[in-house]
Amino acid sequence: MNEISKYFDSQSISTYILCPLKFKLYYIDKLGQLYKKQNATISLSETLHKVLSEFFILEEQKRNYTTIINLLNKNWISIGYSTNEEETDYKHRAITWLKNFTQGQSLNIIPRYINEYFRVRIDDFYIIGKIDRIDEIEGGVEIVDYKTSGSVPTQEEFDQDLQSGISAYACWTKLKLFPKKVSQIYLQYNQKITTIKTPQHLELVQKNIINIIKQIRLDDNFVPKPNNSCVWCDFLTVCPEMGMGAKIVKQENLEKEFKEINLKLEKSINDLYLLHRITLDISEFLDSTKLINSIPEFIKGLVDVDKVFVFIYDDEEKEFILKNNSLNKTLDKIFINQEFILQYLKLKEHEIPQSKIFSGNTINFLLPNIELDKDMLFLPLVAREKFLGFVLIEQKTKLKKFNNYSLSLLQNLTSHISLALHNIQLYELAITDGLTKLYIHRYFITRLEQEVRRAKRYGTIFSLLMLDIDYFKKVNDTYGHIVGDKILKKVAKILLSSVRDTDIVCRYGGEEFAIILLEADRFWAEKIADRIRNNVETAEFTALDKKIQITISVGAKEFYEKDTTEDLINKADQMLYLAKMMGRNRVVLYNEDVK
Ligand code: GH3
Ligand code: MG
Ligand code: MG
Repeated sequence: MNEISKYFDSQSISTYILCPLKFKLYYIDKLGQLYKKQNATISLSETLHKVLSEFFILEEQKRNYTTIINLLNKNWISIGYSTNEEETDYKHRAITWLKNFTQGQSLNIIPRYINEYFRVRIDDFYIIGKIDRIDEIEGGVEIVDYKTSGSVPTQEEFDQDLQSGISAYACWTKLKLFPKKVSQIYLQYNQKITTIKTPQHLELVQKNIINIIKQIRLDDNFVPKPNNSCVWCDFLTVCPEMGMGAKIVKQENLEKEFKEINLKLEKSINDLYLLHRITLDISEFLDSTKLINSIPEFIKGLVDVDKVFVFIYDDEEKEFILKNNSLNKTLDKIFINQEFILQYLKLKEHEIPQSKIFSGNTINFLLPNIELDKDMLFLPLVAREKFLGFVLIEQKTKLKKFNNYSLSLLQNLTSHISLALHNIQLYELAITDGLTKLYIHRYFITRLEQEVRRAKRYGTIFSLLMLDIDYFKKVNDTYGHIVGDKILKKVAKILLSSVRDTDIVCRYGGEEFAIILLEADRFWAEKIADRIRNNVETAEFTALDKKIQITISVGAKEFYEKDTTEDLINKADQMLYLAKMMGRNRVVLYNEDVK
């Protein structure tokens, strides 16, 4: 900074700030910032530009002396004046200039753009800057630039002026509006100067800029120095003072920028990698309950949040059910306002909700008996147009709000979860029996074949049970099929609750069931089979308000190394037949020794 400042007094810095290539001297911007704070001419110029931009937003009939002076008072920037007298003096100047302006310049123009910032590409450079005003005129537009210092150029000088050339070029390339005229209004002198532009002019501007860029490129260690031809600037050709320039990012600047970008990129790469790993994990799931139970863990692994609630729509109950419990209360203690969900989300049939932030009040409506005071992010679980459920995620602390970055990560994650969940649900639907929710016959065969292969390869042990309800025909005949169905459902529930989660319980057909007991040898198989039999026998069944007795018979067989799938089924089935023969409500285990 010192290096540079020795070449400049305040006057020359202000010229540099106005240099079309001020960005070439990237540190000039910094000087400008520094300088801005303590320079009266810059404050005055900023004030006047603000006033004029607000003035032309007003309706035509409101554009008069009174309104413009009101705007001046409202927008006055006080910084940089050394004394009160100086400030008053400048304000008087401003008032005079604006008074003259309202009398001398056309006020009934139609501005199309006010303060139009542009960033247009030339070669691999960007020209950035601002156009004060763009007006509609016949046959195109007119660019207007306000000047608060300097003297009015001659027509010839202005026709050659690079600033007006660049704004015309930017107007054409950015806005696709042909700038027929480019004008400058010198407020101090209440004078306007105008030049006419043609497409050829714009081409010439482009060539000029490319030439300048080449010069800058050749100059490795640019330090602004006064040169022989110009007192202010080292590039005589590009210094008819203006507020735009070709951006060059110097090496030091780049390094700092790179470091910052690198940090951000590193974080997002890490997050994306994590997301990728999680989605791989998600795709491994074949069981919706397990997937649903893992959702909070996935979310917390990706973004630092507090509590996570997962709600899944239950097609049978026709309501959203809270599937996890971060509060360590029993599930049924948490009351969910079902109506509220649909009302609040304004969900009509087939409508898909959007993610949104729920405030504390909303949460209290939704979960009235839990105390939550932080905002929560509502993320719907939607796949293939189906609203499967939603998650509510509590921000970490009151201050740590969700930002766009974490929001998009979480949306990404939930879209993966939703799709996986949807596919699993479809799969589960395809392999489960509608009435009992047990696995269907086809799935049973596939799983049994798989277990046989595994047992042959790795020597794992397992057993097969074949079960059949005793005298079920009689139940149906006496009480009807509807009662029969209810009993089937209840038996299925008893079977499921009598074995481990990993065991495979299937509806083999009608009122016959099959269970693959993993890691159970013949002794365990017999024990478990008898436990099931006992659980059914002791369970209370009612048919048309009358208690009835239901029993089952079971045939059991441990996998033996030479068994095929068919052998297993046949032998277990023979044992089931034996159990029936021996009087029912009993378990018969296949005895390998007696062939
Ligand atoms: P056993 O003790 O010899 O097994 O006598 P059972 O009457 O149970 O045997 P059987 O195989 O003769 O009859 C099975 C009956 O199960 C036939 C049918 O009425 C009933 N059943 C099979 N599937 C269903 C079903 O999905 N719903 C209902 N309600 N009944 C079924
Ligand atoms: Mg039966
Ligand atoms: Mg039967």
